[in-house]
Amino acid sequence: MSLPLAPALRIAGHAISSQIKGGKYPLVLMLEPLLRCNLACPGCGKIDYPDAILNRRLSVEECMAAIEESGAPAVSIAGGEPLLHRDMPKIVEGYIARKKFVILCTNALLLKKKINDYKPSSYFTWSIHLDGDKAMHDKAVDQEGTYDVALEAIHLAKSKGFRVQVNCTVFNDAKPESMAKFLDLMTSLDVEVTISPGYAYERAADQEHFLNREKTKNLFRDLLKRGAAKNAKPGEGGGKAWKFTNSPLFLDFLAGNRSYECTPWSMPLRTVFGWQKPCYLVGEGYVETFAELMEGTDWDQYGVGKYEKCSNCMVHCGFEGTAAKEGLTRPWEFIKVGMQGIRTDGPMAPDIDLSNARKAQDVHATQVEAELEKIKISDPEGYARATRAA
Ligand code: SF4
Ligand code: SF4
Repeated sequence: MSLPLAPALRIAGHAISSQIKGGKYPLVLMLEPLLRCNLACPGCGKIDYPDAILNRRLSVEECMAAIEESGAPAVSIAGGEPLLHRDMPKIVEGYIARKKFVILCTNALLLKKKINDYKPSSYFTWSIHLDGDKAMHDKAVDQEGTYDVALEAIHLAKSKGFRVQVNCTVFNDAKPESMAKFLDLMTSLDVEVTISPGYAYERAADQEHFLNREKTKNLFRDLLKRGAAKNAKPGEGGGKAWKFTNSPLFLDFLAGNRSYECTPWSMPLRTVFGWQKPCYLVGEGYVETFAELMEGTDWDQYGVGKYEKCSNCMVHCGFEGTAAKEGLTRPWEFIKVGMQGIRTDGPMAPDIDLSNARKAQDVHATQVEAELEKIKISDPEGYARATRAA
């Protein structure tokens, strides 16, 4: 990620010192301070909850405690839609005051209205949700006109001096040629893209359009090849001219050139339920503290080939940490991909055997019930209001 120097040095310093100490360490805190959203994207697995849960908010104090506990140098705030949180400007300010790098993810519908609540800072980036060109994005979010709003928000935020990037989730109906044009456009706007295949959320309304691992690798090869053909100088490899926040090693993994196991603790999730076990994508239980998450999670139970819900996962929040670790422990690999680009043909790295993966457990209903019980006790009025409104 091409960050300004000060935050980049802090994050690199944190990664290097954590790697030297060994063990598991977080790089980016994932924060979901609310699950309510003003969109209902068919591929979203985060919003299928009763109102009493959608009305929950993490307080400013809880958000600050999460970063203090985890010690992560950066935080990515998602949800739900973070701009619906009344205290979001205070949360962002609190993190910047602690010299944490903040990525505020938004679908941009409220950005124009709220932008003056925020100030540009080398520690702050808007991350606008944009899943490809107009046709792709409006379909992905199931609302016409959303692409135009997001593009307008990008221009507005840039004109006010903010750092802006785009987060782009790729589904199985993505057309490499259209994606390539979209990436050309983002490059021409000087906007970096965080790209990732979508996770096959079991609670998403649309189960048809998630990618499996083989399709992911072929699609990314096809896509990154186009970057090379159109924009790269002789000798440069796939997608080199486009600007990604993703590390080159993660993109090389998406193109099928590396076999990686996930490092879910590198991007731990604090949500309204607590710290989510084991990762941002799969919720198999919640604990009160970050220490309980790190020490109490049986990490060997999760990952591709170990658990059915992980089988198709190649998502950035599970594997960027692995790529970062390889970059630190085998820097020559990082340099090689940086210099030669991403290989988009030839044999792929062997994939992990999925045949012995533990069967998926259905935990959603039990978790929702447990959370509702807690709300009934801690906020009886709010619970009654939400139940009456439903
Ligand atoms: S994917 Fe993001 S914008 Fe879409 S419904 Fe989910 S939280 Fe909202
Ligand atoms: S593979 Fe890892 S990051 Fe992906 S869902 Fe499973 S535990 Fe989470």
